[in-house]
Amino acid sequence: MQVFGATEQAGHERILFAQDHESGLKAIIAVHSTVLGPALGGTRFYPYDREEDALADVLRLSRAMTRKNAAAGLEHGGGKGVIIGDPRTRKSERLLRAYGRVIESLGGDYVTAEDVGTTIADMEVIGRETRHVTGTARDIGGSGDPSPTTALGLVAAMRGTARFLWGSADLSCRHMAIQGVGKVGGAFARLLAAAGARLTIADVNERAVATLADELGADIADPGAIHAVDCDVFAPCALGGALNSETVPELRCAAVLGSANNQLADDGLAADLAARDILYVPDFIVNAGGVINLAEEIGRQYQPERAEGHVEAIEASVTDLLARARETGATPLDEAIALADRRIREAGPLPAAAS
Ligand code: NAD
Repeated sequence: MQVFGATEQAGHERILFAQDHESGLKAIIAVHSTVLGPALGGTRFYPYDREEDALADVLRLSRAMTRKNAAAGLEHGGGKGVIIGDPRTRKSERLLRAYGRVIESLGGDYVTAEDVGTTIADMEVIGRETRHVTGTARDIGGSGDPSPTTALGLVAAMRGTARFLWGSADLSCRHMAIQGVGKVGGAFARLLAAAGARLTIADVNERAVATLADELGADIADPGAIHAVDCDVFAPCALGGALNSETVPELRCAAVLGSANNQLADDGLAADLAARDILYVPDFIVNAGGVINLAEEIGRQYQPERAEGHVEAIEASVTDLLARARETGATPLDEAIALADRRIREAGPLPAAAS
């Protein structure tokens, strides 16, 4: 068995396997890169079927965080943690504190935050054992739930995209189709409605979608057909993989821009979208508001106005990125990857790419 140099581990600085028999903790922390600063990324608590699935997930997610943090201009590298188990039955103070001690043992190379299966309250418990945690509650001086700031970043990205495509950042004449109106998608819909946009929304949670449609005067689409709505912008704000070989040919929009991570089932689809003259604004650029907000809490007093100022800058970054892509003929995805790689290269060696 090859331990070092396995392809999927290429480029990772550290991979820590940790267990605590008392609490049942089984965790993996992957520090992909600290070239730009301490690795920042959330902790996913998930009932993986197999331990190798957890390892594959943490390696993939930590690598993606390096790219997202670099492209967002943060002084942070990429990392991620996973705790194996069902958070509904396995989570306890003892386990979270044991996990906090594991993070502390990394001496600040990894800073954690909430992710799928972990909450703001969990961060407070982890924080009893380590300072290297962010995304704690506002009432204890933390940055709180990142979702509203992520939504703010999406609107900023939307304005930048509208200016690029239609010469005006005004969203009042735009029709947006939003897939998933949870924490981010719901907040995004409210901000767009306030900007006068026309909305069509979909969610597998029928009650949530009906209530929001009522509140905002939005149309409702079937969750299986929202991607095919004739609109200006399709916004995937639910799960990853919304853009795949079946949905891409059915799109009837000018652009795709949403919060979901890993929207493209495979990166090659960016070229298919470009061939269909659909502008894909890369997910890790437009959904960076959440991590920008989290970074604002690290090592200093969190100030919402300063965080919002940084998030608003996504508008200009998106306009620049799209203009550069038009100039070079590359897809915005390739340009965004090049931007992140350039930043890391200027600061230090680029982690080896995994194939
Ligand atoms: P959430 O769980 O609050 O919302 C997701 C919503 O999508 C839910 O309402 C769910 O019912 C709905 N949904 C699930 N499957 C669906 C389907 N097939 N069709 C339509 N709707 C469906 O999660 P969230 O925090 O709003 O995050 C949404 C996405 O944005 C995720 O991919 C997440 O990784 C990403 N993201 C979130 C943040 C953040 O700050 N929360 C930051 C960056 C990226």
